[in-house]
Amino acid sequence: MQAYRASILYFAPHQEGVVPRAVYEQDGLLVVGPNAAGRQVVQAVGPYRDLAGQYASTPVQHWPDRIIAPGFVDLHVHYPQTNVIGSPAEGLLPWLENYTFPEENRFAALEYSAQAATFFVAELLRNGVTTALAFATSHPTSVNALFAEAQAQQLRLITGLCLMDRHAPTDLLNQPSAPGRFDATEQSLRDTEALIQRWHGQGRLGYAITPRFAPTSTDAQLRGAGELAAQYPDVWIQSHVAENKDEIAWARQLFPQSRSYLATYDDFGLMRKRAIYAHCIHFDDNDRALMRDTGAAAAVSPTSNLFLGSGFFDYMGADRVGFQYGLASDVGGGTSFSPFHTMLAAYYVGREGQTKQGLSLNPQHLWWQHTAGAARALGLEGIVGNLLPGCEADFVVLNPKATPLLARKTVLATNLDELLFSMIVLGDDRLIERTVISQATAGTRA
Ligand SMILES: [Zn+2]
Repeated sequence: MQAYRASILYFAPHQEGVVPRAVYEQDGLLVVGPNAAGRQVVQAVGPYRDLAGQYASTPVQHWPDRIIAPGFVDLHVHYPQTNVIGSPAEGLLPWLENYTFPEENRFAALEYSAQAATFFVAELLRNGVTTALAFATSHPTSVNALFAEAQAQQLRLITGLCLMDRHAPTDLLNQPSAPGRFDATEQSLRDTEALIQRWHGQGRLGYAITPRFAPTSTDAQLRGAGELAAQYPDVWIQSHVAENKDEIAWARQLFPQSRSYLATYDDFGLMRKRAIYAHCIHFDDNDRALMRDTGAAAAVSPTSNLFLGSGFFDYMGADRVGFQYGLASDVGGGTSFSPFHTMLAAYYVGREGQTKQGLSLNPQHLWWQHTAGAARALGLEGIVGNLLPGCEADFVVLNPKATPLLARKTVLATNLDELLFSMIVLGDDRLIERTVISQATAGTRA
C-alpha cells in the first residue's frame, strides 16, 4: 500500500441527466494498493484528516501545493500521424492525400512502427494521458508494434488494424495473402481476428475493429467487420463519421441505400456499446437518436475540427437527445497531445453560436469529458478516468504554479471552477509534473 497527500480532484459517480460534478479535496489523501488480481487500484480517497488515522502505518508521499487528478482518457488519436501534426492543407481530403497517406505507408516496416510507437506512448504519458483509443495503419506490423510498447509501459491502450480495401493509394490498402489464397478483404478480416485473439484482454490492452471510414471499405469488408463485432461483443469498434461535408456527400453516393452516413455503419452491424465514432458533427436528430439507442459514443475532436475547418460539435443537440461523448486529440488532424489544449478548443466549439446554439461549457464538465466521461463512453466507467475506490491507479500530479502566468492566475481562484478554468486556458504539458501508471505485479492478468 502507498498513500499520497496533496490536493485531489476526482468525480462523483455519474447520475443520468445531472451535469457531472467534481470533488476537490484541498488537503486530501489517496491510498493505492493491489486488488485481487495484483493490479494497483484506489483503496481510499478523501480528506487527509479523515483518512490519516486509518492508514497511519501506510507510507505517505507528500506533495504540497500539488493537485492529484485522474489520468486523462484520449478517445481518438492516430499514432501513425504523429509526424503529420501541423501539415497545411485545403481541408480533410487533400490533407489525407498529401500528408497522411504517404506517412502511414512507412508503417509497413516494423522498425519504423516500433520507434514511432515508443515516441507516441512517451508523448501520451508526458501529457498525462493514461488511456487511449488509437488508430494504427492497415499494416499488422503497426498494430503489433503499438501493442508491444503499450504493454511494456503498462498503458491502457486500445487499437486495431485499419480496414481499408478501396479508395486509397494501393500500397496503403489491405493486402491479399502472399500465395494469393485470400483476397485483400478476406485477409484483412482474418488478420483482425488473429490480432483480437493475440492481444485483446492481455493485461490492459484492448482490440478495436477499425474501419477507417465507410468510403474506404467495400460492402464486403464492412459486413465482415460487423460480423466480427457481433462475435466479439467486448471488443471495441472505432471509425470516423460526419466530419466534413465533402466526405458526407461521398459516403452518401457510395451507400445510397442507407438513411444517412451514420446509418451506414448501423446497417453493417457496427453500432453498439463500445463503438466510438470520431467527430459526429453534421448530424440530424435521427442520427443522434441512433447513437443513443445503440449505445455508441462520439469522440469529440475539437482541435482537429478547428484546424481542418470541419465544423462544430453540437453539444446542445447531443444533450437534448442524450447520446454519450468524450474528448479526443485526433492527432495528427488535431494540433496537440495536450488535454488542456483539447479542453480549451472544446470550450471554443461549445461557444460557437452561428451554426448551432452556443453555450459555455462548465470547467468541471470539460474536465469530465476528458476523464470519467470518456471512460464512460468506452464502457470503462469505474475502471479508469476517475479516482473512486476500485479505479485503476492512473493519475497525474499537476503543478498549478508551473509557469509564471499560471502561478499568478491560479492563486486568484475563489472557487473550483475558476481554478480548473485557469488550468484549461493556460495549461499544457508543463502543468503535468508527473504521470503515474497503475502497476501490476509480474504475471498479473487484470
Ligand atoms: Zn481521426
